[in-house]
Amino acid sequence: MYTSNLTANKLKMIPCSKCGTKMPELRLTQYGYNFCVNCSSVDRKCGLPVQMGTGDHTWTETVIMSKEDYLKHTEQEELLLAEKKKDSAEVLDFDKEDKRNLQGPYQIINNMSNEE
Ligand SMILES: [Zn+2]
Repeated sequence: MYTSNLTANKLKMIPCSKCGTKMPELRLTQYGYNFCVNCSSVDRKCGLPVQMGTGDHTWTETVIMSKEDYLKHTEQEELLLAEKKKDSAEVLDFDKEDKRNLQGPYQIINNMSNEE
C-alpha cells in the first residue's frame, strides 16, 4: 500500500483530454501526448485500404495512419474524386474504375459515423 501511494505521489496525474481518465503527466511532458494510452491506441489504428497499380497489376495495401491523417486523407480523396468525376463525366471506362477504387474508404466512413 505504501509503495503504490508513493508512486502515485511521485507521478503527477492529469486527466486525459479525450476521455478524462487519469494518466501520468509524464506522457504529456515527456512524449507530448495529452491523451491516455487507450485513446492513443484507438487513434493509431486507422487502416486505410489503398488500391495500388494499374490494369491487371493491382493489389491492395493497408496503410496505417493516425486518425487525423486518415481523416485528412479520406477528405482529400473525396475532393479528388469529385474533381475526377467532373473531368471524366463523359468517359465511361474511367467512371467504372473510380467506383472500384473508392469502395473501401467509403465503407469505412460509414462505419465510423455509425459508431459515433
Ligand atoms: Zn483517454
